[in-house]
Amino acid sequence: MKNISSIQRPTSQPKDLAALRQSYQNWSNTPDTFSRLTRRLSTTLSLETQLGILAEELQEVIPFDALNYRHQIAHRDFVYATGMGGPHRCEYRLNLEGVCYGSLTLNRRQKFSDDELQGIEMVISAAICPIRNACQFITIEQAALTDALTAIPNKRALDEQLQRASLLAERHAHEYSLILCDLDHFKAVNDQHGHVVGDHLLRLTAATLESAIRNSDSVYRFGGEEFAILLPHTGVQEARDVADRVRNAVASLRVDCGGTELSVTVSCGVASHMPAENANQWMARADEALYRAKDHGRNCTQVFATIR
Ligand code: GH3
Ligand code: MG
Ligand code: MG
Repeated sequence: MKNISSIQRPTSQPKDLAALRQSYQNWSNTPDTFSRLTRRLSTTLSLETQLGILAEELQEVIPFDALNYRHQIAHRDFVYATGMGGPHRCEYRLNLEGVCYGSLTLNRRQKFSDDELQGIEMVISAAICPIRNACQFITIEQAALTDALTAIPNKRALDEQLQRASLLAERHAHEYSLILCDLDHFKAVNDQHGHVVGDHLLRLTAATLESAIRNSDSVYRFGGEEFAILLPHTGVQEARDVADRVRNAVASLRVDCGGTELSVTVSCGVASHMPAENANQWMARADEALYRAKDHGRNCTQVFATIR
C-alpha cells in the first residue's frame, strides 16, 4: 500500500479542485435526507449509534412518538427504544438478501398515511446496509470474546472484565472475588478416554459452572481445562462457599463411557480484590491459591487470605 505522502500528486487543475471542494462541501452540509443519513450512518459501526441517527433523521421527515428495534444477535437480545408509544404503529422486518437484521416498530398517536409509510420504507431501505454491517460487527466482536468449544466467554473476555472489575472495586470500594478452577488430572482423562470425551467433559463443566452461579456472576474458559468465575459484591467467605458448591456440582457429573462411568473433580483458588491491586496481581493471587489447592491433594478450595 502506498503512503499518502509518497503518492506523486498530478498537477491539479485549479478549476477541478474548486469543483471538488464545492462538491465536498455540498456532501458534508447537504440538506438532502438520504445523503445525510447514509453519510452519518457510515461514520459508525455501533448499532446503537446508528439507530439513534436513523431515529433523528426519520423524525425530521416523518414525525413519530416512539421507535423500537429488536434483534437476536449472537444468541443475545439486542433492544433499542426511543420515545414513548402511541396507539398506531407500523412494523418492518429488516430483510436483506434473505437474512433478517431485526424488526423496527414506529408508534404514533395519529395514524400513518400511505405517503408517510412509503417515506418510512425509503428511509429504512437507505439504512439497511449500514445496519447489516453493524449487526455483523457485533457478531464478530462476540465471536472474538467467546470460546469456540464451550461457547462461554474466553480469556480475552476475562482480561477485559478483570480490568473493569479492578477499577470498579477500587472506585466504589466494592467487594469483588475471583475463583480459578482447574480440572484435576485432566490429561489422564484424555489419555484414557480420548479427546472427544475430554471435549465433552469440558463442555459439561462449563455448563455446570454456569448453572451453579448467580446471574450477576460470570464464567470464563481461560485455558485448556481452566475456568474462572468473577463474583461482584462478593467477599472471600461467600466466594469460598460458591467455589465449594461448584466443586460439588462438577464432582457429581457422570459421563457414560461404554459401561464405565467417568467423573472428574476440580480444584479451586479464591482471591478477593485488594485495594490498589491491578488485574494481574489479583489473578496471580488467585493462581497462587489454586496452586495450593493442587498441593493439598486436589478437589478442594484454597483461599488467598487477606485483610481488607
Ligand atoms: P492437574 O490436576 O495438575 O491440573 O493435572 P492435569 O492433567 O489436569 O494438568 P496438565 O496441565 O498436566 O494437563 C492439562 C490437560 O488438559 C492437557 C490436555 O490434554 C488437556 N486439555 C487442554 N485443553 C484441552 C481441550 O481443548 N480439549 C481436551 N480434550 N483436552 C484439553
Ligand atoms: Mg491447568
Ligand atoms: Mg488440570
